[in-house]
Amino acid sequence: MQTNRPDQPHSDYELVIIGGGCSGLSLAAALCRLAVQPEDVPRTLIVEPRSRYTSDRSWCFWAEAKQDNQARPESHVSQAIDIAGGLITRSWRAWEFSAESVSHRHTSGSGWNYHYVPSIRFYEKVEEQLAENPNITLLKDARVSEAKPNENCIALRLESGLSGATVESRKVTAGQIVDTRIPENVDVASAVLKQVFFGLEVRLQSPHRFDDVARVMDDMRVDNEGFMFDYVLPLDSHSLLVEFTRFAAKSLPPESLRLDALESARRVCGDSGFQIVREESGVIPMGLSDGVGPSDPRWIHTGLGAGAARPSTGYAFTRIQRWAEICAAGILKDGKGQGFPPDRPLLTWMDKVFLRTIASNPALAPQLFMSLAGKVHPDRLLRFLTDRPGIRDLLAVMLALPKLPLIRCALAEVHAGIVTANRSHTWHEVL
Ligand SMILES: Cc1cc2nc3c(=O)[nH]c(=O)nc-3n(C[C@H](O)[C@H](O)[C@H](O)COP(=O)(O)OP(=O)(O)OC[C@H]3O[C@@H](n4cnc5c(N)ncnc54)[C@H](O)[C@@H]3O)c2cc1C
Repeated sequence: MQTNRPDQPHSDYELVIIGGGCSGLSLAAALCRLAVQPEDVPRTLIVEPRSRYTSDRSWCFWAEAKQDNQARPESHVSQAIDIAGGLITRSWRAWEFSAESVSHRHTSGSGWNYHYVPSIRFYEKVEEQLAENPNITLLKDARVSEAKPNENCIALRLESGLSGATVESRKVTAGQIVDTRIPENVDVASAVLKQVFFGLEVRLQSPHRFDDVARVMDDMRVDNEGFMFDYVLPLDSHSLLVEFTRFAAKSLPPESLRLDALESARRVCGDSGFQIVREESGVIPMGLSDGVGPSDPRWIHTGLGAGAARPSTGYAFTRIQRWAEICAAGILKDGKGQGFPPDRPLLTWMDKVFLRTIASNPALAPQLFMSLAGKVHPDRLLRFLTDRPGIRDLLAVMLALPKLPLIRCALAEVHAGIVTANRSHTWHEVL
């Protein structure tokens, strides 16, 4: 059994975190960070199927920069991305959107940068932190196969030794669980759009041609399958991360985009030969219907299946850090965690209209994004993209977008809200 505490084989825990990925480890790290004494952290078990962490992804996000080029906590209430600050390996002061040879380059007037955190640095840093806390056990190479709430606790069945020949089964109990898996009643395929991407980190034989700008939506274009773009990050003079991304209405396996990613890499590398040093891929649901109904309050759902990703962008990392801090504070204060807080209703509604517009008319997507990039002040757009727009930012976003198709989709969204209201009597919540 691969645990960081082989000497402490407990069977009852106050908290079990199902999944030692971004959300699970962020919560555990926040518990360690916020506890006054290490012993204040409740007895916690994290269950993770992977037997070891790898460089499986990179997390990028916007945050304000400190003088020393570390990310600064981006809100006065939260130290949430503090942990990420020390993990950033690259930051860009400028980012760019382009379509049909037109580009809009943005820099922030108030010191925001675009940052890059390799996941392996995050996993390793959190593992180090957990090793120092006597109350947290990270059980790798194991999965939760069953969870059943009963009167006094939640009973869990674990299967460990997944990578070996013999799988062991054992039972543990938990006072509460934080479940980062996609909930069973959430169908990712039902998301309005699926952001499907395949990325290649490439090492070029000669220096690449790019200046120090994050191309967050490069060469936006459309084909029969819908809207797509490249994501190009210059990591150093000879290295690039090149991701081919689709906003797909249908479900697509990310591996099906590998050839497109190769083509994009060839395009951006030009005449230089290159070697692939790392691959990453995934599917991020955009605009999931609310599948997580009220369940047992001791069973908290979180992660990508429960609101972690911003519907209109798919960005999740800083949202997860903010949630982890709130959840950890609740656990330490009165023993109660909480799931993802809902976004502000107006923001949710705007995101839905935006996604519905792209889903019903993918050919319009490059124009929508280019209008935003061309007409909205970079700082306003950043506040919108990072979930904290003021009313004037929202207005600027609305005014920048072409009106007719959005009005059509807004009406469709209101209609959908009324239909929902007739079913659930909560349509005022939709608006
Ligand atoms: C390749 C990639 C790149 C991304 N890049 C960005 C980015 O640049 N910026 C951004 O904001 N977001 C990004 N995202 C989106 C998002 O931040 C990540 O997907 C993030 O990892 C989501 O966290 P999570 O905890 O929901 O899921 P995960 O990190 O996937 O964690 C879920 C965990 O649950 C475990 N698990 C599954 N089944 C069981 C079980 N039965 N028992 C126990 N554990 C189980 C899994 O092994 C996994 O470790 C990216 C996503 C991917 C896939």
